Amino acid sequence: MLSFNPGPSKLFGTVVDHLHEGLREQISSISHRSHQFRNLIAYTVSQLKEVLGVPSDYHVFFLGSATEAMERVIQNLVERHSYHLINGAFSQRFFDVSRELGKEPQCKRVVDGLGHDFETVEIPEGTELVCVTHCETSTGVMQPMGEIVRLRERYPDVLLALDAVSSVPFAPIDFSVVDALFFSVQKGFGLPAGLGVVIVSPRALDKARALDHKGVSIGSYHNFLHLEKQALHHQTPETPNVMAIYLLGKVCGDFLAEGLTVLRELTLEKERLLLQSSWPPFVRESRWRSPTVMVLDVGVHAPLLRENLLREGIVVGKGYGPHSDLHLRVGNFFAHDLVDMERLVDSLKR
Ligand SMILES: *Cc1c(COP(=O)(O)O)cnc(C)c1O
Repeated sequence: MLSFNPGPSKLFGTVVDHLHEGLREQISSISHRSHQFRNLIAYTVSQLKEVLGVPSDYHVFFLGSATEAMERVIQNLVERHSYHLINGAFSQRFFDVSRELGKEPQCKRVVDGLGHDFETVEIPEGTELVCVTHCETSTGVMQPMGEIVRLRERYPDVLLALDAVSSVPFAPIDFSVVDALFFSVQKGFGLPAGLGVVIVSPRALDKARALDHKGVSIGSYHNFLHLEKQALHHQTPETPNVMAIYLLGKVCGDFLAEGLTVLRELTLEKERLLLQSSWPPFVRESRWRSPTVMVLDVGVHAPLLRENLLREGIVVGKGYGPHSDLHLRVGNFFAHDLVDMERLVDSLKR
């Protein structure tokens, strides 16, 4: 079975071997207070920081999922006002989390298939945190990093959170404008689900400290202050998914060995291939079209196409929500080889 489901996606090629090796080394039985565990965390954090280009004064925290990260980010960085740029189901989820936590979120919405024009976005007075979904996995829209940089330049005092679940490690990140970036590992990293990562700036930690001093609840075991205290010793507050943390370090090492430039170029080459499949992309404006989550606007043909692909052993994602039977969603990640994409495109043409 060849999976192009955006998430969970196809595993990166080396993962099965790393998993066997991890089991042989009895990774799952080591104490999370041991020296061996601290080395393992330190290795994963250093490899991940190198892959994503994370500044040395930023912290990497391990959580359960990206959805959990949304909750932690809101709890730790917002007393009342978050502002959400919504363009699909995942950015909507981020907004809902803020409301469900009793905050007073505001938002700007654009219709599915469009991105936000950051040059014209006005952020209301009193906003503490702007929430941006880098790649909206439900529609295939990616917001260009350069525009996020310019938005932040207009509002230098507002914190910025970036949901980068389906954009990293493909999309380069400018951390100088990001205070909290989060992702889970089952999409762009090609790993089994069950691990979320949030990377936070010194400013974000200052904000969490200020809220805590003020008596605002920032959560319990996974608040940023507990996570920071443990991370300084390469530890975690709870017994974590150590196998997942181990695998993340290993695949990051593989990405670095293959070369990020090579892997990124390959992603763009696969994107060009799929765009030649004769089905139009849902995102009409190329500046907003994500190379990593490609949504094809196949109209009423979607169910039949999916069925035909399935018969050839190829799985693609359904459209999201209202587009369920009108779109095909194709994950184009480092785990997918050129021959995988050629197989998909050949089948789509037939
Ligand atoms: C998949 C996804 C999430 C949710 O990730 P989980 O690991 O299932 O919590 C959040 N945001 C985006 C953009 C996603 O693609």
